[in-house]
Amino acid sequence: MRMTHSSTDNANEPLHPELYVIGAGPGDPELITVKAYKVLQQAKVVLYDNLANRELLDITQPECEKIYVGKRPYGDYTPQENIHELIREKAFSKGKVVRLKGGDPYIFGRGFEEVLYARQHGISTYYIPGITSMQASGFEDIPLTHRAISEGIWVLTGTKKDGRLSDDLKLAMQSNATVVIYMGMKKAAEIADTYIQAGNGNIPAAIVQHASLPHKKVAVGKAKDLPEMISSHQLTHPALIIIGWVVEVGR
Ligand code: SAH
Repeated sequence: MRMTHSSTDNANEPLHPELYVIGAGPGDPELITVKAYKVLQQAKVVLYDNLANRELLDITQPECEKIYVGKRPYGDYTPQENIHELIREKAFSKGKVVRLKGGDPYIFGRGFEEVLYARQHGISTYYIPGITSMQASGFEDIPLTHRAISEGIWVLTGTKKDGRLSDDLKLAMQSNATVVIYMGMKKAAEIADTYIQAGNGNIPAAIVQHASLPHKKVAVGKAKDLPEMISSHQLTHPALIIIGWVVEVGR
């Protein structure tokens, strides 16, 4: 039977609107999961942004439509509503849509917002986790936990929805846990001051830019020196700030 609503290559196949929210990993394209690799091979459409390695697009079939939804050159990020709209339109016209996001889609990635939107519109959703960028700190001999040194990890964003630094940083500093800050580069001076004021300025700190990629940059120092580390190593986005005694273990 011919399906009237189908516009796929094979008109005899019913079209299933599906959204796969997939983690692209920290940067090195080989750090993607086998499951994600297989889904990319079958994708009809891929929506990808800045931090997803472009090489991963080569896994798709030539006819797969690839749409960039990251930051426009010298401009703003694609508004989230536009991404939602694209997901809906493509899922109903083409079927299997992949949303490829850097690291893990559910760690500061807004991936679940897209899943909720898709579900509300009758699209089946699937999540495939990715290696989040902080896990790539292991390449720099910085384990995030280490027996008797760090008993946990605080994972914070440097830039909350209102643009402010998270108050949780003050709580995190009181523990022995490793503190990892995503999107914190613009707040480096404020982070350093917060540590200095609490008498914690000498806790070791590292900044890792482009973790897992050949052009990565790493700076190691103390929490009080974060701004100086950024300027002396000319570090920029995307980078992670890692503060804790684990930074010293491998040195
Ligand atoms: N979902 C992503 C995070 C997105 S938020 C993940 O799981 O990794 C964007 C922030 O992620 C950046 O500001 C930076 O702090 C961090 N980041 C992403 N990729 C990175 C990389 N290769 N190296 C260092 N930091 C990275």
